[in-house]
Amino acid sequence: MANVFDQKLNDFMAKIIAKNPSEMEFHQAVHEVAESLIPFIEEHPKYKDAKILERMAEPERVILFRVPWLDDKGEVQINRGYRIEMNSAIGPYKGGLRFHPTVNLGILKFLAFEQVLKNSLTTLPMGGGKGGSDFDPKGKSDNEVMKFTQSFMSELFRHIGPDTDVPAGDIGVGGREIGFLFGQYKRLRNEFTGVLTGKGREWGGSLIRPEATGYGCTYFAEEMLKTRNDSLKGKVVTVSGSGNVAQYAVEKVTQLGGKVVTLSDSSGFIHDPKGIDADKLAYMMNLKNVKRGRIKEYADKYGCEFYEGKRPWMIKCDVALPCATQNEVNEEDAKTLVANGCFVVSEGANMPSTPGAVEVYLKAKILFGPGKAANAGGVAVSGLEMTQNSMRLSWTREEVDAKLHQIMRDIHETCVKYGKDADGFINYVNGANIGGFVKVAEAMLAQGLV
Ligand code: NDP
Repeated sequence: MANVFDQKLNDFMAKIIAKNPSEMEFHQAVHEVAESLIPFIEEHPKYKDAKILERMAEPERVILFRVPWLDDKGEVQINRGYRIEMNSAIGPYKGGLRFHPTVNLGILKFLAFEQVLKNSLTTLPMGGGKGGSDFDPKGKSDNEVMKFTQSFMSELFRHIGPDTDVPAGDIGVGGREIGFLFGQYKRLRNEFTGVLTGKGREWGGSLIRPEATGYGCTYFAEEMLKTRNDSLKGKVVTVSGSGNVAQYAVEKVTQLGGKVVTLSDSSGFIHDPKGIDADKLAYMMNLKNVKRGRIKEYADKYGCEFYEGKRPWMIKCDVALPCATQNEVNEEDAKTLVANGCFVVSEGANMPSTPGAVEVYLKAKILFGPGKAANAGGVAVSGLEMTQNSMRLSWTREEVDAKLHQIMRDIHETCVKYGKDADGFINYVNGANIGGFVKVAEAMLAQGLV
């Protein structure tokens, strides 16, 4: 039977690759989902006949635009802007904006495709989208970042809106960038609406939004551990990245009694065997968010090791939380993790594990929470921010955190429902893919050929 499915998967992927040449990350994301879904769809011909999966792999709309701006020297710079409006079957397009020099169409399409299933898993009414630019905020002055974001929004504003498409942050887009983007949108439209999430607390933002992805990823790890009557207490945890997701993953793991021993950025990683406690985390957050410095400075300050150009997966741990970027854990890294006793991987980043790495986790039957389930807390609280904006009220920190925690438990339950193998092993990859698919597929069937 496996061969029949393999053939169908190969045929399906051949069409995807021919239609979207050179979009490697998009192929990778679609392949992983199709591998889970094709057997399920074969059992449910209504999805097959309506070609739901084929339709989901085609964006509803792709917007690509020029972003000209003047740098501090008065020189003209030109970047490229994108918005992928992937699927609006269950709600307005929703997904972050990424500003990073590696951004291209294929990367944003992979992210938008994943986002559709992720948003569905949150149980909230949000479709999927993603956008961004090849602009690199690193090394730019605040003035340059503002000029770029204003130019970017001067085109994007005509395509988005609180009931149409609601962007948020992602790599390179944090509170500062969301502020500039919101200001420009408000100026152009002359309206104060919840068109972006991740806003400041004083102007429509939700409490817990900055924390949500890192907290959610940690809650998901804790839920997975519960299935083995275990918890994060006393666990040694490796974290990659030192941005938004990594920072709050460290905070929550530490609050739950775990010890985080690594952090990284694109120049390398630090190993602090004593653990990154609240004071060290505060130093690191100031270093990254205010001084915009490099992680090596942490090693200099606390006298621990900095591994230049390396990733943290060689460090022995019980739990690994990849929170930096796509394909940052390869097959070799995964083998090293498993050989060193790591038995939980909860992905804060999107698609940080290569297909080879995922195979290693599944073969070793460790607890593996794929990004579309484990990092859905960020978009879930963005969904809650949209609700608060529509109702024109704000919930307390405790209320939002309780809702986030419940959503992560619900996502875990959905994964168990759709991902439990006959031997009791929970394949969270299948669980997340099928669980996310069903709701979107049903909505697409109900709405006809659109
Ligand atoms: P940030 O920009 O705040 O931080 C990104 C971190 O990852 C930085 O430490 C950065 O280092 C590092 N990094 C980025 N690219 C690379 C690379 N190519 N190699 C090595 N390190 C790299 O982004 P976020 O924390 O918001 O996002 C991290 C991941 O989480 C992404 O995959 C994102 O899509 C995902 N995610 C984010 C959500 C959110 O709410 N923010 C929601 C769901 C998923 P450096 O500074 O040197 O570039």
